[in-house]
Amino acid sequence: MTTPAKPADVHRTWRAGRVLLALTSVFAAIAVCGVVWLAVDLYAVGVAAGRLQGETVPWTIERQRLGRNLEQLRLEGQRVLTASSPAGRQDALFLVHVLSAQPGMADDPRTASLAAEVERFLQQVEAPATPADMQVWEALSSRLRLMADDLSVEGGKRMSRELGRMSGEMAQASYKLLFNLALMAGFMAAFLLVVRRYLIRPLQRIRRVLSALDPRGPVPAFPPGPMAEIRAVEDAIVRFHATLLENDEVRLRLERLATTDGLTGLFNRHHFMALAADEMARAARYGRPITVGIADLDHFKQVNDTLGHAAGDRVLKTFAMLLGDTLRQTDRVCRYGGEEFAFVLPETTPEEAQLLGERLRTRLLESPPVLPDGRHLSVTFSLGLADASGCGLEESLARADLGLYEAKRAGRNRTVVTRRPDGL
Ligand code: GH3
Ligand code: MG
Ligand code: MG
Repeated sequence: MTTPAKPADVHRTWRAGRVLLALTSVFAAIAVCGVVWLAVDLYAVGVAAGRLQGETVPWTIERQRLGRNLEQLRLEGQRVLTASSPAGRQDALFLVHVLSAQPGMADDPRTASLAAEVERFLQQVEAPATPADMQVWEALSSRLRLMADDLSVEGGKRMSRELGRMSGEMAQASYKLLFNLALMAGFMAAFLLVVRRYLIRPLQRIRRVLSALDPRGPVPAFPPGPMAEIRAVEDAIVRFHATLLENDEVRLRLERLATTDGLTGLFNRHHFMALAADEMARAARYGRPITVGIADLDHFKQVNDTLGHAAGDRVLKTFAMLLGDTLRQTDRVCRYGGEEFAFVLPETTPEEAQLLGERLRTRLLESPPVLPDGRHLSVTFSLGLADASGCGLEESLARADLGLYEAKRAGRNRTVVTRRPDGL
């Protein structure tokens, strides 16, 4: 047993809800990754700021304080050498000792050794200081000044290094933020494009097709799209169009059945009366001539009786065809009864209608009904005509019928126009 082959035009479809869920998930994943990526840098900036505040700034302040203490030590040393009294010298020496023993000074080996060297020198110098002592002091004094400068520069350098690192991390975070925003914008643009192409556009197309849907028009065709819901609506429209067409054909069939005669294809009497009334009203509105007539086949019963009902039907069809060919497009004709035909001729006087009757007579003579065995039948008809301008349809037809009766009475195969009682 073989499995049936799949149709060639089966396209893969997706449900819009699932697509939306997938896109939202991708978007959320990208957003979370972007935020985490960005948060790493923001965290680094936070750490750097904390380090700056907790370490670098106090350290820098400490360096500057140490620098100021070194300067103070230098000034106190100067005071020891230039003191005018032993008490002043002692006082300055005490301050030198206090400054040298300060924790900040003692913690740094460079300042600790320089301060100890200065204190030792000042303690051993006798007052008044000799030029050699002053020379040594000058050297120590400039070393103190240089070290104070170095400490202050060190603080500044570390500070600027930390600030530089922090601003680098901030710049990186802002680039990442921009990149994230651009990524989100790109994703949103792509998302909107997808929505536009696969949802909005098909919906617009569906609206256009629906607003122009015509059962007699071509079957709506939709380019294959990937959205299952859209495809379902499009398929429903195609089915709807087929149903409309079917209904329209049924309607036309019913209309034809209701308005025409099944045997001859001419209008039936009921429909003819409505059309004729319209023509009469139009002629009355514009004051135009109009004529009505009733034709009846002569001795038709004999045809049926001698040749059969089918031969009679053939005669009826042939006569109906001749009527259709001989009358104008604007004339209205119907099968009025068994072998009777009624017509209304707008823009036609009874005299012109008489000529038309004669033309019909000639044509029936030239193209008589032919039986299946090839026999030609000689058929004639009688015709009653009446001027219908300015009077009612029923009344005009009654006068035409009177003319028909007269024609039969006078020997058939002729036309009689019945004048109106007013002589017209
Ligand atoms: P007259 O010249 O006086 O009109 O005579 P007639 O024989 O034509 O008229 P009559 O009224 O006596 O007969 C009409 C016949 O038409 C009777 C009926 O059987 C026949 N007829 C009516 N409708 C149809 C039809 O659809 N098909 C056929 N074959 N005959 C029909
Ligand atoms: Mg007859
Ligand atoms: Mg009759």
